[in-house]
Amino acid sequence: MAMKIAFIASEATPYAKTGGLADVVGALPISLRQLGLNVTVFLPRYKGIKGTLCDHISIAMGEKYDISVYKDDDFYFIDYPDFFNRDGLYGTEKGDFPDNCERFTLFSKVVSQLILKSSYDIVHCHDWQTGLIPLYLKLGKSRARSVFTIHNLGYQGRFPVQKFPILGLDNGYFTPSGIEYYGDINFLKAGILYSDVVTTVSENYAQEIQTPEMGFGLGGVLRTRQASLIGIVNGIDYDQWNPETDDLIYKKYADFRGKQKNRQRLMDECGLGGTRPLIGMVSRIAGQKGFDILVKAFDSIIDMGFNMIILGSGDESFQKKLTTFSTVHPQRVSVNIKFDNKLAHRIYAGSDFFLMPSRYEPCGLGQLISLRYGTIPIVRHTGGLADTITDYDPVSAKGNGFIFTEYSSKHLVTALSRSMMIYNCRDAFEKLSEKCMTINFSWGESAKKYVQLYKNTRLSGTEE
Ligand code: ADP
Repeated sequence: MAMKIAFIASEATPYAKTGGLADVVGALPISLRQLGLNVTVFLPRYKGIKGTLCDHISIAMGEKYDISVYKDDDFYFIDYPDFFNRDGLYGTEKGDFPDNCERFTLFSKVVSQLILKSSYDIVHCHDWQTGLIPLYLKLGKSRARSVFTIHNLGYQGRFPVQKFPILGLDNGYFTPSGIEYYGDINFLKAGILYSDVVTTVSENYAQEIQTPEMGFGLGGVLRTRQASLIGIVNGIDYDQWNPETDDLIYKKYADFRGKQKNRQRLMDECGLGGTRPLIGMVSRIAGQKGFDILVKAFDSIIDMGFNMIILGSGDESFQKKLTTFSTVHPQRVSVNIKFDNKLAHRIYAGSDFFLMPSRYEPCGLGQLISLRYGTIPIVRHTGGLADTITDYDPVSAKGNGFIFTEYSSKHLVTALSRSMMIYNCRDAFEKLSEKCMTINFSWGESAKKYVQLYKNTRLSGTEE
């Protein structure tokens, strides 16, 4: 019989997306099914998600909550309109929703109930929003083994102690060896402590997060799980991100020449002039993503002769600085503050280089997508960026991008100037772009590693 897996997350393509988590939860189950596993995905029923009604469930969380469950293919959606039928997944531009603790506790309780009344082999939970589930399953004496994947240690689901009663847990769990964290509740810590196996989305990040500098205060907790902490690098969905079949880009292509048509259209539509090299960025606008060193490099970027197109949304003060940058250089810089999947595809296809100057990066998908579109990544050597990008050497022509290590605008600028040199050697530039298109970061190999992991995972504290 096929292994039965439940994926539980707060976002997944094509239904709800704010970042890479959605790509992973959308794509990995497809690859796992191709390997013969039976995978179901559980999501909140956000605004606009339809599906067919398939179940009702009552949950005690202080008062009684009546929940409906909807289904669409292999997806189940937990419906509680007061919590999930809103604009935005986690908050508005003003900040997080004040009831995120209630929202994701309810979601976790409902999914745990549904799991307990069925027969899953593996329950694969993703990020803090699902951190309580491994504990709820243990308390419910579930036979399912739990895998908890950390997509970003920087987001932990921390809530004040006053909210602890909502979780319905014994006070004994609110201790330093439990889910207490500097006086608060910490959902991510719960996932780390009570799951049978913990994974992260690249091998390098699995090591980095055990250090005091990169552990976001949970390095010590992670070290206690060292024997069960594994890094598996993300892939991308090669059907969705494919320049040969992509309906969202200007012109489908399979080579460098075809790519140039997309480049020209993108420059025209964004009002960028000249033949200068174009750097693209598609990113959440957050401190993690390196915007502070980017802002300091603005003048050099212009002086060196680059054009730039940025798509993203998030931190207001960075948004303002980016917008000013484009106002000062309207024919050189295009800044688009929004979430726009179509424009994202067009930037991946039409840019010469793709920039990710991240302070930290658990895996990063932008560099993998850009490779697929023949757009040369320029990245900082951290996390999954270090696992997937190798520095280009103009003598041997080895490498697939440009890397800088020290987190500073000076080193970012040095990497940019190296990329400018290759841009000016047209033959080498074209070869590198086409080489990038042939590098394979589809899910195949990583999905096999997850299958092996599922097979090897045992219920903790048992000999099974
Ligand atoms: P993270 O998960 O930290 O946000 P990743 O690089 O792992 O970063 O994944 C980001 C994903 O979100 C990519 O698929 C990227 O194309 C997409 N994305 C980010 N910002 C936007 C945006 N403003 N509009 C459209 N897609 C975006």
